[in-house]
Amino acid sequence: MGSQIMTGIRRGLALRCPQCGDGRLFGRFLKVRSACDACGADNTIYPSDDAPPYLTLLVVGHVMVPLMLWLDFVWTPALWVQFAIWLPLIAVITIATLPYVKGAVVGFAWATGVTRQSARQ
Ligand SMILES: [Zn+2]
Repeated sequence: MGSQIMTGIRRGLALRCPQCGDGRLFGRFLKVRSACDACGADNTIYPSDDAPPYLTLLVVGHVMVPLMLWLDFVWTPALWVQFAIWLPLIAVITIATLPYVKGAVVGFAWATGVTRQSARQ
């Protein structure tokens, strides 16, 4: 069970289908393919609606807040300079990180057997 979860998360982080680890998980950005091009698995059955943005912000926040405190300590730029640096940077990093986190969430759901159908019951 534990190694199954690690396999699912690892394949998801690699943006691969959790079932076979070979086909690509996403068609377009953040759009899960309804049929894996390698094994045909439908990965849209796994719920991943709210968790990826939440987890992404959690991870990005833990990385960025210490950096912001560090910059403020060593340089002490004006507040508008801080905003000009951090807001675009955080937006870009969050958007860039989101597919990997979403992949990991889908992989976790695959490993634990959580589907949209079972979540609704
Ligand atoms: Zn597959």
